[in-house]
Amino acid sequence: MITKQKGTYDIYGETAKKRAYINEILASLCEKYNYGYIETPVFEASELFHRGVGEATDMVQKETYDFKDRGNREITLRPEGTAGVVRWFVENKLYGNMSEPVKVFYNMKMYRYERPQSGRNREFTQWGFECFGSDDVLADAEVISLAYNAYRLLGLDNIVIKLNSLGDTASRNAYREALIAYFKPHIHELCEDCQNRLEKNPLRILDCKVDQESEILKKAPKTVDYLNEESKTRFTKLQELLDLMDINYVIDTNLVRGLDYYNHTVFEVVLDNSYALGGGGRYNGLVETLGGPSVPGVGFAMGYDRTLLAMEEHNIDIPIQNTIDLYLLYVSECEKETAAFIAQDVRLNGFICETDLLSKSLKAQFKSVERLNAKYLIVLNEEEIKKDRITIKDTVTKEEKSMPITDLIDYLDMNSR
Ligand code: AMP
Repeated sequence: MITKQKGTYDIYGETAKKRAYINEILASLCEKYNYGYIETPVFEASELFHRGVGEATDMVQKETYDFKDRGNREITLRPEGTAGVVRWFVENKLYGNMSEPVKVFYNMKMYRYERPQSGRNREFTQWGFECFGSDDVLADAEVISLAYNAYRLLGLDNIVIKLNSLGDTASRNAYREALIAYFKPHIHELCEDCQNRLEKNPLRILDCKVDQESEILKKAPKTVDYLNEESKTRFTKLQELLDLMDINYVIDTNLVRGLDYYNHTVFEVVLDNSYALGGGGRYNGLVETLGGPSVPGVGFAMGYDRTLLAMEEHNIDIPIQNTIDLYLLYVSECEKETAAFIAQDVRLNGFICETDLLSKSLKAQFKSVERLNAKYLIVLNEEEIKKDRITIKDTVTKEEKSMPITDLIDYLDMNSR
């Protein structure tokens, strides 16, 4: 038997229905913020992620799915959404006319070679969005509000936004130097990965999963102490805007986020102090790093699967369609043809209709009516069909009504919606 790959899953049945419901809510919310839908390819040139996400990040060092295609090109399955969207933005020279910001959202599968566990898979979905062209702190607030409102609309009212600022490049560099100086004498007490991170990416030591509880990390210099005046003012303004929008946030000075491209705002969404359900921030240098001009950007990605898991754990009611409108029962060949004809008409008019595809007995077809939760049934009958008539039965009230076949759609319209 061929089984699915470790860290992957099939989406079907109730889960598929739940996801369709969530997709609808998220897409409709994005519309309100005027974000357009985008899908980028599953595979891209490896260089995009090496440059975009950062050579020294865990994601690029250990987690990407890399391979050479038959043309000997270095290919990587996308591990996150932002780099591909920036590639699209640069490739199409959308920076040429920036009289409005470019705002897009996506809902895409991502691939990371991680150790699978609950809420951590090798193939997983992220819903995310990016806003290019505005360096105004209101754009940061808008992105945080869109993320926040998404979880609220899904019923996860208790989420908290963890917020921090890394400051502009000058502030970030000053902080970087302070961290190197601070960690150097203690570095042998930290894990091997952190020892490697010291010179390449010292900020990443702060969110190391292994050394999370170490006193050395807890006493490390804080980002806020290294923000220059401009960055500080900006951070304060962001908090004022979030207060005005009634967004529940806490400042977490240890939050740096794993990827290289962030500056100023970084944030994560957490629930019950458990793992992050999503994260984002500002990335003003990324468009330039990927070959475009200097265009500011800010974005967010939701861990879709984790969010659904959290909804299930919190017993949030997800309305899913568990009934059908009509079941057509038949025995003879002539009745079967009428079933085919009626099913076609009923489905085209927007009703969910089923009929027997397994040559079942009439008794077994009645069992199907129950199993599928049909609201109405019609037992097709040759004598009636000759007169162009049918009898429809309400499965709950048991009421029956005889009518011309041509009246069926009107009847369903009046009674089913
Ligand atoms: P990141 O792109 O690493 O900032 O991740 C954004 C969000 O995606 C995280 O907060 C998680 O909720 C989710 N996520 C990241 N990696 C995985 C994974 N391997 N499996 C499932 N969800 C993930």
